[in-house]
Amino acid sequence: MNCWHCGTELIWGGDHDMEDDYDYDMVTNLSCPKCHTHVEVYHPSKFLIKEYKDYDKKSKRKKRKKL
Ligand SMILES: [Zn+2]
Repeated sequence: MNCWHCGTELIWGGDHDMEDDYDYDMVTNLSCPKCHTHVEVYHPSKFLIKEYKDYDKKSKRKKRKKL
């Protein structure tokens, strides 16, 4: 993954489990060696993924009704 600002390959700083967070279960820290931008990548938990899947199903149903 490259830096949003300068395009340099980011350096992986580590993963952290987020046991207290319901929506995201892991955060990955990345940093840019060139411009020192700090990037955090939040990985969705199974609960959040399920929520999005349910939401997709609902929105698809609505579209079908209109047709
Ligand atoms: Zn950078």
